[in-house]
Amino acid sequence: MSPFNKKELKCNRPLNVTKTSLPSLDKYIPYLEQIFSTRRLTNSGVFSLELEQKLASFLSAENVSVTNNGTLALMIAIQQAGLSGKKVATTPFTYVATISALLWQACTPVFVDIDPQTLCISPAALEECLRNDPEIAGVLPVHVYGIPCDVFQISKLCAHYSIPCIYDAAHAFGVKFNGRSIFEYGDYAIGSFHATKLFHCVEGGCIVTHSAGDKHGIELLRAFGHIGDEHFCLGINAKLSEVHAAMGLCMLTLVEESITKHLAACTAYDARLLGVSGVGRPEHPGGTTANGAYYPVILPDEAALLRVMATLAERDIYARRYFYPACSKLPYAQKAWSPATCFVAEDIASRVLCLPISSEIGQDDINEICNVILSCI
Ligand SMILES: *Cc1c(COP(=O)(O)O)cnc(C)c1O
Repeated sequence: MSPFNKKELKCNRPLNVTKTSLPSLDKYIPYLEQIFSTRRLTNSGVFSLELEQKLASFLSAENVSVTNNGTLALMIAIQQAGLSGKKVATTPFTYVATISALLWQACTPVFVDIDPQTLCISPAALEECLRNDPEIAGVLPVHVYGIPCDVFQISKLCAHYSIPCIYDAAHAFGVKFNGRSIFEYGDYAIGSFHATKLFHCVEGGCIVTHSAGDKHGIELLRAFGHIGDEHFCLGINAKLSEVHAAMGLCMLTLVEESITKHLAACTAYDARLLGVSGVGRPEHPGGTTANGAYYPVILPDEAALLRVMATLAERDIYARRYFYPACSKLPYAQKAWSPATCFVAEDIASRVLCLPISSEIGQDDINEICNVILSCI
């Protein structure tokens, strides 16, 4: 018999890997009333402009352009960086959207293995890759789980080879590294404001750049490449609607509290799991202020992972395999990849599990999840 008695289950089930936060409806309704009365629904309306200003201040970034999702933010950054159709070095250990954005921009992703501690792109492997392949025109690393990449090494390499760096910072909202916002690093940094992310607009994203010229270029690309009757370039539609921007403005007032609660949940997990043999954790580099958005654990092997998932599911608790498979295993993305090179990423992807975390998760839930893990490994 299972050591757990199903009859004891509490009512906060199912417990999913995350629980989307929402503002109280009476905070959101006044925005809707204004949108309904002005009938200004989209196309750089007042709320999307206000959100850009507030994000610039929150992320300590001069130039923020909001978009309708993070995938289009990546695609536009790739286009603006001049990387479309070229080879781009990236990490295989990410959500598939990083790679989809490259492929939709006709880029060839060149998968570079990850560092076993941070799970971000390995600077040593990146150096080797850039040295061996002069066709690589840019780098797209990911601050995976909000863990900062080795931004100093990467920026040295990019300067040496004179190639741009676009950071996928979709997991890293609110993260600071060496006293600076993580969005300040790289030529471009993109955010995702999808409902499952720490800060969200239901659907949304942003691109942070370091020059007014880049911001202008990005905003042309975001809105069909024209201003009035003057057509400058091939663009796309990646505008954030006012309804979404209003949600972002509401959520931004709650995000600091949400980060505090996520970090408290991480501390509660740590108290039960740190140092337990068979439960590995990625490491943040020194100088990181984390956001607690994810709580990944690295289990001994895939069989242990499947046991943990199944036992949690019996209790209506759903951990998720973020990120599996490694993107180097995607059948449509294997172009510039040689099988021996992504050993670490593929190994970790087979046995890493993200445990439920949100601003609402309680100590009892965390204890129950930890008990299951300890009983399964
Ligand atoms: C969520 C996510 C994206 C894509 O963002 P959307 O807003 O869902 O399009 C890109 N990269 C990573 C690493 C993500 O987790």
